[in-house]
Amino acid sequence: MNVKNESMNLIDLNKTSPCVLSVSGRFIRQIREMIEKDEDAFPEIFGLGHVKRRLVEALATGSGVLIKGDFGVGKTHLCSAVVSVLKNYYLTHPIYTNEGCPVRENAVHLYNYIVNNDHAALENVCPVCRHQYAASTAESVPIERVYIAEGGGFARVQGNEDIEPEKILGMYHLIRFAEIGDPFDPRVLEGGKIAQASGGVLFVDELGLMNNEAQYALIQALQEKSYTPTNSKMTFPVDLLFVSTTNNTNDLRIHKAVANRLVGIPVGRVGFDDEVLIVKKELSQMSFVMRFPELFIEFIVSAIRALNNIAVYLGPRSTIRAARMACASAFIEGRAAVSFCDVKEGLYTEIRGQGDEQTFDEINEMLAKDFPSAVEFLKERVPLIENAFSVIDQYKDTETAFLYIDKQLIDDIMACLCEADRSHETIKAYLDAYAVSVNIEPLC
Ligand SMILES: [Zn+2]
Repeated sequence: MNVKNESMNLIDLNKTSPCVLSVSGRFIRQIREMIEKDEDAFPEIFGLGHVKRRLVEALATGSGVLIKGDFGVGKTHLCSAVVSVLKNYYLTHPIYTNEGCPVRENAVHLYNYIVNNDHAALENVCPVCRHQYAASTAESVPIERVYIAEGGGFARVQGNEDIEPEKILGMYHLIRFAEIGDPFDPRVLEGGKIAQASGGVLFVDELGLMNNEAQYALIQALQEKSYTPTNSKMTFPVDLLFVSTTNNTNDLRIHKAVANRLVGIPVGRVGFDDEVLIVKKELSQMSFVMRFPELFIEFIVSAIRALNNIAVYLGPRSTIRAARMACASAFIEGRAAVSFCDVKEGLYTEIRGQGDEQTFDEINEMLAKDFPSAVEFLKERVPLIENAFSVIDQYKDTETAFLYIDKQLIDDIMACLCEADRSHETIKAYLDAYAVSVNIEPLC
């Protein structure tokens, strides 16, 4: 990109056909452009179609949103997707700000004030720019192009009890003012998360974990589209998308006054098939590639969902971790494919790992009593496989039994499997799951 185009003077703004949209307007415009080009705004997120739609609609109206759901249902992924959408808009639509503006306000406002004598436009110019530029000529005000990056157009707050309102609002340092003398010096007026996010996205993860004062600090920005830094009398205009999340258990800790100003969007667990897709995507990103029989992946998803909330909460993150550990187990054993022993190892390790001292006994009891049967699962998916299981009963190991299973039966079973699973190795892996369950020597 030509650097010369990146910074220029205010007077040149009219040559760029400047963007006059608010941040929510830019967001919805980008979404529209993506739909027209058949691009997915949320490519990383499987399922949750209605949630994505509601999120887009709420943000397009300029409302802040509160995404509610259990751990691991993809709340933070949704927020990251919002940031990427906006990032793309800024890459393709030049937006300029007055150089040094702490809230990266659209330079259009100062342009309208100076060039078009529009006095109302001054309301959207921050105190720092007013002080620095309001009496200048448009030829002498430097402007620069803005992009979205962490700390400039994107700020993230991880909710916890200790966050002070100053962190959100920024701070006017009286002592530094006494030393430096310039009330607009950036060392005197320190920006907070709102200033950092201005022009883009403010993301608060686990809003309910923030103390009340920090939650209140957000209200003015959400309500009035402006904020006042701590110790300051100056009010800054702010334009941003506000996205927050809460776990269902912390929902009630969100102050009513804050919750009332946000559009709540409940996110349930994705459907079974989407959870399988999520696991597959995560597995494909592992540092070692392992053949993972499809029905074993499905069994892991099904088992975690079946055991959820009996002794402990087991969300999609547990499914992913169990599958990854199954891979690691196979890798350590030097196998090229994941066996049923690895699957069991992954599931047990993950589920036990979710417990603590109090739930330890309860989890073990659950695993002994409620752990789903892989044999039943396989029979349900591929009923023909039962005929092969009965052959195993007659021999002492799967390898020998496999030699005696009718070739036609193997072909018929193969035809019932998805393409990736159509190999003798995978069928043997499924037969092994049966062998383990009846204490016949498995291959693994
Ligand atoms: Zn400004």
